[in-house]
Amino acid sequence: MNLREIYSKSNRPVLSYEVFPPKDDIDASKLEQLFIELSVLKKYNPSLISVTYGAGGSNQNESLEIITRIKDELGVTPMPHFTCVSTNESNIKTYLKTIEQLGIENILALRGDIPADGRFCHDFKYASDLVKYIKNKSSLSVAVAGYPECHKDAASFESDLRYLKEKVALGADVIYTQLFFDNNHFISFVDKCRKLNVNIPIIPGILPVTSYKQLEKMTSMCKVDVPVSLVETLEKHSSDKDYMKKYGVEYATCQCQQLLESGVKGLHFYTLNKSFSVNEILSNLL
Ligand code: FAD
Repeated sequence: MNLREIYSKSNRPVLSYEVFPPKDDIDASKLEQLFIELSVLKKYNPSLISVTYGAGGSNQNESLEIITRIKDELGVTPMPHFTCVSTNESNIKTYLKTIEQLGIENILALRGDIPADGRFCHDFKYASDLVKYIKNKSSLSVAVAGYPECHKDAASFESDLRYLKEKVALGADVIYTQLFFDNNHFISFVDKCRKLNVNIPIIPGILPVTSYKQLEKMTSMCKVDVPVSLVETLEKHSSDKDYMKKYGVEYATCQCQQLLESGVKGLHFYTLNKSFSVNEILSNLL
């Protein structure tokens, strides 16, 4: 099913999970473990499982294998992510053809982070270039990324929203957001988008915190405000792994409850390839 159908036909909030190809491609057990974790979460009837893409394209084969298995073994609609910053037009064309031949209907079109060495391909400078290309060259349904607290490289929040609107005007069907820990940022972001006539579904990205280290890593990678109460609690209990996971589940459950009450069309979970927290959150919610 394509994204437009998924979000327009569902009479309940649409559930989606994000996974990444295990880093060690030689270690097949990590891949098997990923599918064990996903089979635990399958009982909540996710409509979509998205698979991240390394900006350097290093894990393209593993991504394709995971995508195929999600579709054929789990019977769930997969959505590959694709970043354009480090690749050229010819590679993108081949990739689109490959996934369409595999029967994939959806793609999350991204720019990707600019490589630290500053070397990148100039065929596609921004995600909007990729959205335009995909809409011209394929019949894929396209999702894009949105940033409730503004993208870290953006000149201003206003310009970031303007470029998001451009991605939508070029044919995006859904926006998935970067993780956030304060729902006010998401609600205000949706409000700003609606005022700009961005009317497609905006799906919040939820990361259940499991450790203080993980939180530090995530927040160093993107511009995210962490409420003082969350930082203080995690700092205080940083050595108690079980407490951290339990608190992370409670926190994310509360976040999801509020978001559902605010009328979101779905929830997108950053699973980090583990089922425990998402399983607990969904059993609390459903
Ligand atoms: P864009 O929409 O192109 O925006 C990038 C920056 O450029 C923004 O600051 C924007 O304001 C600015 N901009 C956009 N258009 C223009 C223009 N025409 N002129 C001037 N400035 C402009 N990364 C990965 O490597 N792999 C993944 O699988 C992955 N999955 C993700 C999933 C989600 C849901 C999210 C939220 C992010 C994901 N990322 C992933 C991270 C993403 O690649 C980075 O945040 C990247 O820096 C920006 O990508 P984008 O598609 O949002 O870029």
